[in-house]
Amino acid sequence: MTSCKRVLVTGGAGFLGSHLCARLTGEGVSVICLDNFFTGIRDNVAPLLASPLFELVRHDITEPYLAPVDRIYNFACPASPVHYQINPVQTMKTNVYGAIHLLELAKETDARIFQASTSEVYGDPEEHPQTERYWGRVNPVGRRSCYDEGKRCAETAFFDYRRQYGLDIKVGRIFNTYGPKMRPDDGRVVSTFICQALRGEDITIFGDGSQTRSFCYVTDLMDAVLRFMETPEGITGPVNLGNPTESTILSIAENVLALCGGPSRIRFLPLPEDDPRQRKPDITLARSHLDWEPKVPLEEGLKETIHWFRGTLS
Ligand code: NAD
Ligand code: UDP
Repeated sequence: MTSCKRVLVTGGAGFLGSHLCARLTGEGVSVICLDNFFTGIRDNVAPLLASPLFELVRHDITEPYLAPVDRIYNFACPASPVHYQINPVQTMKTNVYGAIHLLELAKETDARIFQASTSEVYGDPEEHPQTERYWGRVNPVGRRSCYDEGKRCAETAFFDYRRQYGLDIKVGRIFNTYGPKMRPDDGRVVSTFICQALRGEDITIFGDGSQTRSFCYVTDLMDAVLRFMETPEGITGPVNLGNPTESTILSIAENVLALCGGPSRIRFLPLPEDDPRQRKPDITLARSHLDWEPKVPLEEGLKETIHWFRGTLS
């Protein structure tokens, strides 16, 4: 990373993007943080604004962007189902036009480019755990499709730009990640349960809570992303990035309740359309290519996240 002069982080004011900007500037790297502030917030990057290494630019990646850069991390796109379904056409454009504009930028500047892809490319999977060889089971016309199919199309664009123009690409399929700087109104399960418990509200489980996800703490995910970016050019991915410890949503609710205390009770609500039944990454490739595996146990990550939310909600 020391030889790298200037890095572009799109979606840099969001949850993951802001952690990435902090890590990069902390390592002495110059960062352009680009965001349209749809779900991102200035506060997430406020501590970085005084740094000469950090530049914040308001821009929507559905429009082209040009700047001399050596590395591009494409994190721009709302990740919460609640948020990406507010304006599904914009979500699709962000994923598809946005990817193409950034690939054009990479082509123009000869930059290496990382795509924040997602476990959603596997849809509601029949193969468990999911390996990168699995092609997925995705509804192309449902409410989640703007995100799932948008991300799948972005992956296609990345590999076509590599085949056609020789671009230096890295595609990481990120599984559910949580931690400080998630929005309280984000709608994603960990942030929602924690905020509900801290406010003494009912914990809202969709369905019977037997569906599973595998949750990765944000510092582990950042280690994986930074390592992946610096792997040799031949290692393009897709590579699963996540924590293979699988939990039911009911157990997450019980864990959060036990750690937060308070009077909250569990309330069961209908399951949203196309909600995947189970999800767990096979991280064999990440282990071998990145010499990485997640270190933070769920309970420790939840405690850190609860501590952070206590500070922001009060
Ligand atoms: P987030 O919603 O907190 O951050 C997304 C950021 O992108 C926000 O700052 C938002 O304002 C910005 N953005 C959205 N559309 C944009 C556009 N058109 N132009 C410029 N900026 C735009 O979400 P997150 O959890 O930080 O996720 C970041 C990326 O990682 C997303 O691409 C998401 O698909 C991917 N990802 C996240 C997870 C996870 O569990 N957090 C899992 C898989 C993939
Ligand atoms: N979920 C829930 N209650 C909530 C929010 C989410 O039970 O208040 C469930 C949701 O239905 C899904 C799981 O938690 O089964 C993970 O949801 P999230 O939106 O965090 O991520 P994704 O479905 O995109 O993996």
